[in-house]
Amino acid sequence: MKKKTLLIFVKGKPATAFLKKYFRSSDTYRPVFCSTTASPHSSLAKDGVSAIVAEISLLPSLSLFDGNIPCIGMINSDRKKGIEASAAYTVDGYITRPFLREDLDFMLNSVIRQSELMRARKKEIRDLRTIHELAQKISSTLDPKRILFMIVKRISDLMPVTRCSIIRVDWLHKIAYVVASFETPNISMIKLSLKKYPEIVEALLRKKPVVVSDISTNPIMKSVRDLVSPLGIRSILVMPIIFEKKVIGTLFLRTSRKRHMFRRDEIRLLQGIAGVSANTLYNAFLFSQVEDERTRLEKLAITDYLTGIYNVRYFHHRIIEEFTRAERHKMPISCLMIDIDHFKKINDTYGHKTGDLVLKEFAQRLRQLTRKSDVLARYGGEEFIIMLPQTTTQGAVAEAERIRKAITSHKFKGLKSRTSLTVSIGIAVFPNVRIKTYDELISAADDSLYEAKKSGRDRIVIFT
Ligand code: GH3
Ligand code: MG
Ligand code: MG
Repeated sequence: MKKKTLLIFVKGKPATAFLKKYFRSSDTYRPVFCSTTASPHSSLAKDGVSAIVAEISLLPSLSLFDGNIPCIGMINSDRKKGIEASAAYTVDGYITRPFLREDLDFMLNSVIRQSELMRARKKEIRDLRTIHELAQKISSTLDPKRILFMIVKRISDLMPVTRCSIIRVDWLHKIAYVVASFETPNISMIKLSLKKYPEIVEALLRKKPVVVSDISTNPIMKSVRDLVSPLGIRSILVMPIIFEKKVIGTLFLRTSRKRHMFRRDEIRLLQGIAGVSANTLYNAFLFSQVEDERTRLEKLAITDYLTGIYNVRYFHHRIIEEFTRAERHKMPISCLMIDIDHFKKINDTYGHKTGDLVLKEFAQRLRQLTRKSDVLARYGGEEFIIMLPQTTTQGAVAEAERIRKAITSHKFKGLKSRTSLTVSIGIAVFPNVRIKTYDELISAADDSLYEAKKSGRDRIVIFT
């Protein structure tokens, strides 16, 4: 074990000789005899001084040491005066000459232990204060994302880490995400492949902190050592974040520090921080779940259940918008009504189920054939509608013709190779003297489709 440094301030040969002899055989202490009090070695400050042994008469000149280093007063002659002086200078203990080796042993041991305990308590109080402050900040901040970032930021201020993140675990889908990281403030849910993070998996399973002090030797890291080594990371700490007995995420710290990877007091502090973070992480998680569910429902509400393309409801909503815009800006807008020819026969020949699959494939094909600005929807049954904003008759005809040809040549998976489908398409274009509303635009396209059917199918008809 490393020897503890003591500063010795004594006068006179006998005392110095005794102490020198005493310390010569000591495995515990390294004495530094100081003749003047003015310049304690600057190198000592770095190493730290464990205690001071000083003759009482020298105490007045020792005031340059702060109260953090325990001090033993040595009383030489007048015992009564010596004790009074010891009290006045608030030393941590005193010893009267002549004394036994055991007296000094006991005294040193006692004051150093007391002082170490005190230091540990002070650190604990500081850490508790940190956690308390963080908890207060958390409760006064609304945005969970901001809170999670605040937490990683605070941790990185408290200890020298290279990386510090908060990981969220989605047990249902067996996925983990980085939800906060002090290196990147605006991060949003980066997916993590847990295969590459065995230490996180370990912490999730154990529900206990995992400390990898040296990634080059720790067996947990075996499978990913080659991947992690080049990153310059030396040690890793994974602290589970537990909410209602379930691990919902972890703090994830990595550092390139060589010595003192993660100390026990740091781990304890992180445990406290993980504790106050749990609620926020849970809420943020709930929030994103609600968000996911809402977008899912919103999508569901505008989607046709069979084909996955938009439904009529959405189409109406969009055509009202676009028609109004076209009117206001005097821009053209076109509408195609598409109906599969003799679809009943497909059902009769192959069955309704295959009919469904053909409809699905048909819709997919239409989706590929339309432009991004077009709005394609299933109008009902085997009838589809496309709105083409800012498109004149010429453009609409070109698109309709393209669709008609593409469908005719398309080989549908569920149908015999010789069977091909044809479509009839009705086209209506605004502006047109007989079209005043979006409703009339749709009806006009429908009328044209009827004409196309009546005149033999597999063709396009333009409303005039
Ligand atoms: P045409 O349009 O050329 O006049 O003939 P058609 O046979 O396509 O027209 P009709 O309107 O008489 O019949 C449409 C057929 O489409 C009847 C119906 O069973 C079928 N159909 C409508 N919706 C679905 C569906 O969701 N799935 C399946 N499998 N068939 C459907
Ligand atoms: Mg039809
Ligand atoms: Mg029909």
